[in-house]
Amino acid sequence: MKRRQDRRRTGKKQSKVLKAMLLIVVAAIAGLVIWIGANGWDVKKTLEQAGLSNSDNELPEPPLGAEDTKSEPSIEDGEADEQNPPVAEVKPEEPSEDDQPFDGGYVEGQQLPKEPTYVKNILIANKKYPLPETFAPGESKEARAAFEEMAAEAKLSSFNLTAFSTYRSYDYQVTLYNRYADRDGAEAADRYSARPGYSEHQTGLAFDIGEVNHEKHWASSSFGSTEAGKWLLANAHRYGFILRYPNHKEQITGYMHEAWHYRYVGKPIAEEIFKKNITLEEYLGVD
Ligand SMILES: [Zn+2]
Repeated sequence: MKRRQDRRRTGKKQSKVLKAMLLIVVAAIAGLVIWIGANGWDVKKTLEQAGLSNSDNELPEPPLGAEDTKSEPSIEDGEADEQNPPVAEVKPEEPSEDDQPFDGGYVEGQQLPKEPTYVKNILIANKKYPLPETFAPGESKEARAAFEEMAAEAKLSSFNLTAFSTYRSYDYQVTLYNRYADRDGAEAADRYSARPGYSEHQTGLAFDIGEVNHEKHWASSSFGSTEAGKWLLANAHRYGFILRYPNHKEQITGYMHEAWHYRYVGKPIAEEIFKKNITLEEYLGVD
């Protein structure tokens, strides 16, 4: 009996010791977890604090020349990025027309062509597609007939329309452009007057339209605010004319808004351009 009791006591003692050790281990782990937590869950920092890890002591001295290797800018190295931004990433892109302020639209140094440009059977004349110096078709009879028909109907609404400038020869454009450039400077002149060879008036299909006895609105943006100007804007397409240089399309057409400048393209195309509210350049797919 005594031996049995002794054995039991010994067993109880052993289990007590085990329980105590378990408690110590649990407490130690809990303490470690709390400690690491206090260091922002940075195990490395915690180990360094405990003197268990010290990179300065543990890492071997860098070999000679290692500084040069280290200081070379590397994409992975954040600090190197800030101090030495990679040159390749800030390389400026090729200037694109869309991103640039309006530059007049001309291709500098461009020679006038030998032949005029037709796209979809439509004659195009703008700052990218000039006309030959020798191109002299005169005023288009078809366009004149369409204008007279339109003017006759406008008269029914008591608007007395006139085309105060239609066909202009190459030589006349030379005179006109030089006069404007002398007066306002070439840069300003480029915004409202074509250089010789680039005027749509040389096609014989462009009609500058105004009202008889209202010369003050001729070739003026104020024409767009007159009743006649509004009538023209709403009806010209029915006679085959389009407003050639609409508002806010300067980047496409190369010209600021011209409420008076209409271009004859024929009824079907004029209808389509009017309904889609696009420019001739957009219709033809040229820019
Ligand atoms: Zn004009």
